[in-house]
Amino acid sequence: MTVKLSDQVAIVTGASRGIGRAIAVLFAEEGCDVAINYRGDEAGALETAAAVEQFGRKAMLVKADVSSFEQCERMADAVAERFGKIDILVNNAGITRDNLLVSMDAEDIEAVIRTNLLGVIYPTKAVAMHMVRKRSGRIVNMSSSAASRPGKGQCNYAAAKGGVESFTRAMAVELAARNVLVNAVAPGVIMTDMSEQIRDMGDEEIKARLLLKRYAQPREVADLVLHLASPANQYMTGEVLHLNGGLKMA
Ligand code: NAP
Repeated sequence: MTVKLSDQVAIVTGASRGIGRAIAVLFAEEGCDVAINYRGDEAGALETAAAVEQFGRKAMLVKADVSSFEQCERMADAVAERFGKIDILVNNAGITRDNLLVSMDAEDIEAVIRTNLLGVIYPTKAVAMHMVRKRSGRIVNMSSSAASRPGKGQCNYAAAKGGVESFTRAMAVELAARNVLVNAVAPGVIMTDMSEQIRDMGDEEIKARLLLKRYAQPREVADLVLHLASPANQYMTGEVLHLNGGLKMA
């Protein structure tokens, strides 16, 4: 059987559950060793690691807060030391603190910007030189449909994800000459812990705005990330791919 990521090494941030776990497991299924980043949920990260190892691939747990420059540098160095290289970085970790701006405190604003925006920039900074030196790499950033079509109460999150999309284009420009391709995925509503409250509150209203009338599974996001991260993608860089069941047109 041919696999798409044969003997590659990936870092997936926020892989202790949800979309990050689905990406880590699919990558392992496709022949990739995976560094599983998490911030606090070690039990969840261990579950992801067990699923990765079921496919005969190596899993490495890396506890690091992606909003810390130093912790991201240490994460990249530790992964490069263990595996000898880093082929793929998936900047997936993210949080929400939804509220109307008038009711938000500074901590709600800063935590979301720090985690979702600096939490993409710092791991990229830490990993980029490893990819530049070997003249190849793939970086996939997790945006959100909130960047282009924010719901009420998502201004901090929408601002951070809009930044992620601009950063994706800027990195594509900087890294193209070294054959490092940088893209983003902007999911709509995916069945994870993060979207539970939104799904509970507005189920019928949200589905009415989706052409496909259903939410997506984390695995469906992972499938798209796999394509962007794999050698099958040789010519796409600086793009934001929308995966939202037709939200844009509904
Ligand atoms: P989730 O189920 O809430 O999982 C979030 C993950 O991020 C967890 O593994 C968490 O680790 C990690 N994380 C949070 N803060 C971190 C930090 N500072 N450092 C390192 N790891 C951190 O979320 P999800 O639904 O899978 O979302 C994954 C990504 O997709 C996010 O970027 C999100 O914005 C984006 N997205 C999700 C949806 C959706 O509907 N679910 C839609 C659009 C975009 P710990 O548990 O260890 O804290």
